[in-house]
Amino acid sequence: MAKRFWPVREYHANLLKEETGWVRKEPGGRLNVALLYPNTYQVGLANLGLAVIYDMLNQRADTLCERAFLPDRAGLKIQQKAKAPLLTLESCRPLDEFDLILASISFENDYPNLVRMLEMAGLDPWAEKRNGPPVIAGGVAMMLNPEPLALLMDGFLLGEAEVILDPFIQALEEAPTESREELLLHLSKNAPGFYAPMFYTPLYHPDGRLKAFTPSQGLPERIKAPKYTGPAKGMAQSVFQSKGPELADMKLLEVGRGCGHGCRFCAAGHIYRPPRLGHADDFMEPALEAAKNGDKIGLVCAAASDLEGIDHLASEVIRLGGKISVSSLRADRLGDDLVRALAQSRHQTVALAPEAGSPRLRRIINKHLTEEDLAGGVEKLIQGGVPNIRLYFMVGLPEETEEDITEMIGLIKRIRQQVVSLSRARGYLGRVTISMNAFIPKPWTPFQWQPMAPLKTVKKRMNRVKKELAGMPNLKIVADVPKYAELQAVLSRGDRRLAPLLLTLAKDPNPQRAFAALDLDPGFYADRKRMEDELFPWDFVDHKITKSYLLAEAKRAEQEKQSPDCNPAKCTRCGVCGHEKA
Ligand code: SF4
Repeated sequence: MAKRFWPVREYHANLLKEETGWVRKEPGGRLNVALLYPNTYQVGLANLGLAVIYDMLNQRADTLCERAFLPDRAGLKIQQKAKAPLLTLESCRPLDEFDLILASISFENDYPNLVRMLEMAGLDPWAEKRNGPPVIAGGVAMMLNPEPLALLMDGFLLGEAEVILDPFIQALEEAPTESREELLLHLSKNAPGFYAPMFYTPLYHPDGRLKAFTPSQGLPERIKAPKYTGPAKGMAQSVFQSKGPELADMKLLEVGRGCGHGCRFCAAGHIYRPPRLGHADDFMEPALEAAKNGDKIGLVCAAASDLEGIDHLASEVIRLGGKISVSSLRADRLGDDLVRALAQSRHQTVALAPEAGSPRLRRIINKHLTEEDLAGGVEKLIQGGVPNIRLYFMVGLPEETEEDITEMIGLIKRIRQQVVSLSRARGYLGRVTISMNAFIPKPWTPFQWQPMAPLKTVKKRMNRVKKELAGMPNLKIVADVPKYAELQAVLSRGDRRLAPLLLTLAKDPNPQRAFAALDLDPGFYADRKRMEDELFPWDFVDHKITKSYLLAEAKRAEQEKQSPDCNPAKCTRCGVCGHEKA
């Protein structure tokens, strides 16, 4: 076999030559796990979820873990020429030689890639028909709503890897192996956060809405998704580093999980509750270690600029010769030292996310950000030496009108003018880049009942912004492709009836052709306003957050009222911290 697949081996060897952090163990006498990332090596290498699972499994003496990525264009050509199935990166073994296949999935639009990978591995994508190792999926997209993959996976791990992976491996090692059903039942009963769709039966109303979701075999109606409660320094860090792939040249440190600001569109801000933000001191040691080698340190968290002591940490990294990068910055939380460190790390552009152009819409989404905050952040960045600014906006937000778009255009003009004036005074002309994304209603957010704005409206409004700002110097506008946003909207709130769509997309990624071929109305999933008492396909996952809280927040959004930030010491509003106390 080694000879037969040598071009693939050579291709993998060249990737591994540039990479640090990978492990290769002898397969004998231990559980062999193939870990799939449903996108290319370039996209997935820096994924922290993948790194945590790989590291935890390879730390165990009784387990071995190797990765498999979706081959990129060059890799696919080599694989096809060698007539090879999908092979793991480390030992170039086919997936059916492993005892278990895990998939780590962060993004809905990667689901068809997972189907492609199973097919490339020679495995049937339908769980019911598949022989070979069990295929279990986890990751944030699964925690939100695993149902679109329910007929394709044998099971799911719902929760955070730090607390569910070891008990799962232990339960797997003790499980009966006579039949797949017995194995999955044992895991369902003994591994926290484990969900096997075969034991849960959905029933639908004639109009297609979910009517009931019934467990069998004495399993619970809802499955708790356990969360990590240990020290902040125990959160994720990058394991692999390499020069080429996106973000993989950085030492990534997860400095917090979740976010307490309660933006109503943000799923991470809801399922990762309570927010667990460390202190900069927790990360000083690994950050300074990397800085001494001249590395770039990436601080990762949905609310990274909230990290107490971040200015000191950033200054220390620079002092020792490193560089710093921060995954998300709030315009109203920018310290001078942090900005200086970003500039000294040669960031040409720093991004801020007003998300909506009008104060009214920002209240509706609970953004807690005024135009003064935004302008203050922009001024701090330009004066601190960051040359250019990127601003993120969403189009198609709930309650959005043409007037909000007019206000967005006005805001962009004012910020552009501000950047040009401030940068001119510093002897150059700064640039503003606008990133427009379609709003996608996500499960577990107060907007989970909302329709996505019709594609036509999203396109029209994006085009209006582009047209009215066309030709303006020092301003660039980039917009996502609405048809892929619609697909994401379908998949994020979809159910198990979408399996044929995923199989079709695995062959041809064009969503509109796939909807037409299957006579599937994307509007049922994407553009439909849900009834208040509608049962959702993801309701059976228990993140502790109550549906009544989400609905109350949805009503506050309608009333254009903001809600306060999280305060876990005192607040029991959403049910998460109340649960802890109970
Ligand atoms: S109970 Fe309050 S503080 Fe705790 S996660 Fe929910 S909103 Fe935040």
